[in-house]
Amino acid sequence: MFIDELLSHGSGPDWRPTLEALDRWRSGQLASALFRINPLDVARHLSLKPDPTVDAFLAGVLEGWFDLRWDYHCPHCQGIPNFSSHLGTAKAEDFCPMCNVGFRNELDQTVEVTFSAAPKMVSFAPGEQEALLMAYNQSLGNGTWVKPEQTLSGLDLLHRPLFHERFSDEVLSAEESLEIRHVVLLFTDIKGSTALYEQLGDAKAYNLVREHFKVLFKAIETHGGIVVKTIGDAVMASFRVASQALEAALSVQKAIEPLKIPGTEESVVVKMGIHAGPAIAVTLNDRFDYFGQTVNRAARMQGLAHDQEIFFSEAVFRDAASRRTLATRKAALRKWKTQLKGIEGDQVVYSVK
Ligand SMILES: [Zn+2]
Repeated sequence: MFIDELLSHGSGPDWRPTLEALDRWRSGQLASALFRINPLDVARHLSLKPDPTVDAFLAGVLEGWFDLRWDYHCPHCQGIPNFSSHLGTAKAEDFCPMCNVGFRNELDQTVEVTFSAAPKMVSFAPGEQEALLMAYNQSLGNGTWVKPEQTLSGLDLLHRPLFHERFSDEVLSAEESLEIRHVVLLFTDIKGSTALYEQLGDAKAYNLVREHFKVLFKAIETHGGIVVKTIGDAVMASFRVASQALEAALSVQKAIEPLKIPGTEESVVVKMGIHAGPAIAVTLNDRFDYFGQTVNRAARMQGLAHDQEIFFSEAVFRDAASRRTLATRKAALRKWKTQLKGIEGDQVVYSVK
């Protein structure tokens, strides 16, 4: 029943084996082990790939087998003074009674996502979950707690396509924002779009823009990113790692080539910009969005591009995996110093064609 119900939420060669392994695993667990499950720990323990394992837990939430939990860790003691079942009740600031100190939640650092068995799978005795959480918090104090190798952060979860598509109501309340220490943002825009509308007429131009969105969305999702929003014919996307954004942008350059402007031999030209840094997560118009200077800078990077080129910042170039990507692609790299509108001083920027 577990496998049958979850099967339709995923695809690919790893999907069924992941569900089968997870089903065997959960059948052999005590109730206490099915509380606050770290999906990456389970993946490692069962030698499964992390992404399909996280998706299997998400599918389990959709089918009522698991509950999703957002744990707000205190950055001082690692304890969990607060948690919620929905991101909508997350607060920018929390208080740790164990440390007697206030702290700010960071979506990519201190906000951890865990899963617990839902009543459909296990019924916890009254007060058992609270007792388990207290035992966890106490284990931190008495040195018996083992730090997991990896945890799934709130920002990691937001970048899973299944979460992005099916949990769109999991957003922050409109009054709250959460800090993010590091996110990678990609902005794109079509070159000469005004002229295109003039030349082709609205309907044909719109069709072309839609076709170009398909190419972009596929490249972004294939490389671990999510489309945050479209603004006219521009796209804003986010990634966890700089090299993913760079690879997505490089693959757009190739994939867009066959998309010709009707009646011409010219390809659609997409100008791109990437920047990484801190931001805040917010909810605008009921949708997840980012806000802050990193967003402005990423948009300015994109504004520097005039042709089928990708402009990116030092923060992107500093990432070792980004440099490996550039080396393997043998992309013609240029380094510039330039001014960015509204930002003081000369900025180092890079471009690849
Ligand atoms: Zn604390």
